[in-house]
Amino acid sequence: MKIANLYRKGKTVLSFEIFPPKRDSELKNIDATLEILCELKPDFISVTFGAGGSSNCNRTIELAKKIKYTYQVEPVVHLTCLSYDKAEIDNFSALLKSEGIENILALRGDRNPDIPEKEDFRHASDLISYLKQTEEFCIAGACYPECHPESLDRVSEFKFLKKKVDAGAEVLLSQLFFDNEIFYRFREDCRIAGIEVPVIPGIMPVINAAQIKRMVTLCGASFPERFQKIIHKFEGCRDALFDAGMSYALSQIIDLLANDIQGIHLYTMNNPAVARKICEGIKNIVVPN
Ligand code: FAD
Repeated sequence: MKIANLYRKGKTVLSFEIFPPKRDSELKNIDATLEILCELKPDFISVTFGAGGSSNCNRTIELAKKIKYTYQVEPVVHLTCLSYDKAEIDNFSALLKSEGIENILALRGDRNPDIPEKEDFRHASDLISYLKQTEEFCIAGACYPECHPESLDRVSEFKFLKKKVDAGAEVLLSQLFFDNEIFYRFREDCRIAGIEVPVIPGIMPVINAAQIKRMVTLCGASFPERFQKIIHKFEGCRDALFDAGMSYALSQIIDLLANDIQGIHLYTMNNPAVARKICEGIKNIVVPN
């Protein structure tokens, strides 16, 4: 099932994001995680892709296959392009096709001084137009309500985002954010820029203080004062911070649902307790798949 069709049906689409474990020793835990996540019946689960290296890509595909064939949930495979050439992308798409994977989140990938970049794909839009030469995959792209950290300015950010959509991205999944007003402004600016595809908010429930500091540094998300106070107040107690972080994420999601969003993309951080709590909190609002 191509995920763009889910959004076209007008249902509120619930999706989860997971990452493949880095170490072999963690591989067995992922089965238990997947089992719980899939029981929650999301519309799809996307699997991240590490920068460079075939073991990363193999793990992403292995997980996607498990999601599709063991648990009958639709997978979306993330694919970065900065460190690959056309032949490598051809091999990768042939592999996906042979495994019956229909959805790709096409990304440029972060720059990493330890991983050499290649010349074939400089931006996600290059990868998207290349993959769209055939009609085999449904392609999603990434978007950034607070601008990408390398963005020149807001005007060029929207110009390049429109280019990504014109190249063939049928859905945009957003970077995490903690202030819904920023997302609403972004969504409106997308429409003004002529971007008509679904723009789906990405929500990450924050359940430990180190995680939030890392996230704010990595992706530059604003950290509203109301949320800072909550973290500051409860960071000394793990359970209290879990409750507070989950409540904050749920209130964000309920406000988004009241404002006509077409779906929620939940960054689960491979934590099934987080996903379960969110699903419980919206069970009478978002109908499971
Ligand atoms: P692009 O769309 O290429 O944009 C990157 C920057 O270049 C932006 O500032 C943009 O304005 C600018 N730009 C775009 N096109 C042009 C152009 N034609 N000319 C000049 N400038 C241009 N990373 C991973 O490594 N693995 C993952 O699995 C992964 N999953 C992600 C999932 C989501 C939902 C999101 C939001 C991000 C994810 N990332 C992942 C991170 C992503 O790879 C980085 O944010 C990366 O730095 C940018 O990728 P992009 O696809 O948005 O790039």
